[in-house]
Amino acid sequence: MEKNGQRSRRLVLLPCPFQGHINPMLQLGTILHSKGFSITIAHTEFNSPNPSNHPNFKLLPIPDGLSVQDISSGDIVSLIQRLNVNCKSHLQECLSQIVTGGRQDDIACIIYDELMFFVETVANFLKLPSIILRTTSAATLIARTTLCQLKLEGLVSLEDSVSQDLVPNHHPLRFKDLPFPSSRKFESFSQLVIDTYKIKTSSSAIIWNTMDCLELSSLARIQQQYQVPNLPIGPLHKFGPGPPNSSLLKEDTSCMAWLGKQTKNSVIYVSLGSIAAMDERELFEMAWGLANSEQRFLWVFRPDSIRGSKNEVLSQIFKETIGERGCIVNWAPQKEVLAHSAVGGFLSHCGWNSTLESICEGIPMICRPCFGDQRVNARYVSHVWRVGLELANELERGEIEKAIRRLMAGKEGEAMRERAKNLKEKIELCIKEGGSSNNSLNKLVKMIMSF
Ligand code: UDP
Repeated sequence: MEKNGQRSRRLVLLPCPFQGHINPMLQLGTILHSKGFSITIAHTEFNSPNPSNHPNFKLLPIPDGLSVQDISSGDIVSLIQRLNVNCKSHLQECLSQIVTGGRQDDIACIIYDELMFFVETVANFLKLPSIILRTTSAATLIARTTLCQLKLEGLVSLEDSVSQDLVPNHHPLRFKDLPFPSSRKFESFSQLVIDTYKIKTSSSAIIWNTMDCLELSSLARIQQQYQVPNLPIGPLHKFGPGPPNSSLLKEDTSCMAWLGKQTKNSVIYVSLGSIAAMDERELFEMAWGLANSEQRFLWVFRPDSIRGSKNEVLSQIFKETIGERGCIVNWAPQKEVLAHSAVGGFLSHCGWNSTLESICEGIPMICRPCFGDQRVNARYVSHVWRVGLELANELERGEIEKAIRRLMAGKEGEAMRERAKNLKEKIELCIKEGGSSNNSLNKLVKMIMSF
């Protein structure tokens, strides 16, 4: 490929195959493509991207050796560990052919998701520079390493996962906000974190989907511990020519027409992301909390989000009660939804992408974290940036109704909306020319050109 008489340099990007990881990696690919690089997405067969959505990328499938059982087990930690073992030799083989065959453009470097740490070994073997993409908040990294450190020192146990006590030196995090895994996975989770961080020194840089205006102090704290540059270039979905469609599920765009009929700020958008699930009791509480709030709502209800049930679970009575006041879809075009003027609040599980997407549109949140880093994000949303309130206890219809009214119809909600708008403006400055994320992106491009 030629550009301005020069061969354009190829970057190989390798995402971790889950929605919340695929999105930021492909967004990064789109940005770097707009800067003149050729992009290859090396991807697992599991959750592979749809080629027709990515005409500007070359897709390189890597056999992942996952069995149906691995995939259906729901044990994400061991699935990631398996991928790290199974994909290594295949990636090495595929890239060796490109490197030694001298076909294609030169590979300037490999950019990989922090959880796919096997890539580091392959890059070292092929003598290719590598860069890590971290798709969580900076605060999450600090919380994860703190949790592992406390665990190694024997200062924390699973019982602390419900403790309201503050973690020393980690204001505003309480022990219950730390990203505890479930009991069964505590050992393997700690190992995954250790595996993920021991490779930190051999990559050339760490890209973050965050920005100084949100996380300056966490980023500074992290930078002190690393030799390599940490480059916060978020929010990735707001840079460049617009994010690609990387949804693994088909988006139901009919909700946009429904939103078009609603008045400004009148709708609460409800989604728990791509993985979190509820049991039937929680589902009923959520449904009746929404109905009783008497607010308009758009609810993403994934087919696999009810544990242990394959039946039609929302009753006819519920559907008749909400009538035209609610719209329920399997999967929504979330970024478009949040940018719609009718949406005035987001009841979210606080995955990092959802959190960023909400803040970037100035939408205040009701935080309903389910596991892992979502608790850290929820704490920052409600207690540091103060653009949301937390649904802390068991899901219960009265609590949900109250929280929705507080956010959508109360003075408190108005104040949060105002703060969210201010944050949105600060974020817009970060990505403009001269802004901190824009400067970091320029540094990244310069660094890659120097390889
Ligand atoms: N998303 C979407 N449609 C939906 C629900 C979610 O496109 O109906 C997208 C959302 O915009 C976000 C991603 O899926 O980019 C979810 O990532 P997040 O980090 O918020 O949560 P996770 O799914 O990893 O728990």
